[in-house]
Amino acid sequence: MRRLANDIHKLFNMAIVAILLLIISIINSYPKAIYVSIDTNQAVFSKGTKKQKVIALSFDDGPHPKYTIEILDILKEYDIKATFFVLGMHAEKYPEIIKRQVEEGHEIGNHSYSHINMRKATKKQIREEFEKTQEIIYSIAKIRPKVFRPPYGNYNRDVIEIISSDDIPIVLWTFYQDSKDWSNPGVDSIVNTTLSKVQNGDIILFHDYVYKNESHTVEALKIIIPELLNKGYKFVTISELLNISRDI
Ligand SMILES: [Zn+2]
Repeated sequence: MRRLANDIHKLFNMAIVAILLLIISIINSYPKAIYVSIDTNQAVFSKGTKKQKVIALSFDDGPHPKYTIEILDILKEYDIKATFFVLGMHAEKYPEIIKRQVEEGHEIGNHSYSHINMRKATKKQIREEFEKTQEIIYSIAKIRPKVFRPPYGNYNRDVIEIISSDDIPIVLWTFYQDSKDWSNPGVDSIVNTTLSKVQNGDIILFHDYVYKNESHTVEALKIIIPELLNKGYKFVTISELLNISRDI
């Protein structure tokens, strides 16, 4: 009787060990698969590596005939590079600004032609908005944008499929780095949003096209850029950030 009880006990222990081993193997394999896909294969990015003190400034919706020029002047003063996600319809209007951006070493990203909500668009519209803007930029500056940011950060499976088929990553922004500067929330608010949580690899979202009589973004940049330089951050374009992040 005692032997039978011992055997049952042994069997019970073995079963527990087997279950534990199974759980451990599942835990071990599952996160690895996720990390690999984030690091190398994912089509949508919102930040870069945390292992280097790098940061990417991005400006959406331009070019704007006044604010983009003022921002370019500030970037030139500090000798730093940024990425401009331009609208095809604004690039058509201000081609000289696109040329200057390229000449001064900034990256041009595609932000659609007319700022449509791609989540509500047909596949045909998505393709047209993307390709038309690629062609406009090429006709102005002889380069094709290598990064795409959907308006409002809105995308779906169709957007990923269409944009990825051109081998172009979809680039959003680091979620806590949205100062809503397009709404002119005040210089202090923009500065605070950017600086209070800043971390390595952040993609910071600004707007060079503001539909207002003044832009708080320009004044905020005069505080943000020297502060980030003081903290030791290196400014890189989005493509540079993605390349650095892939290599590590
Ligand atoms: Zn936009």
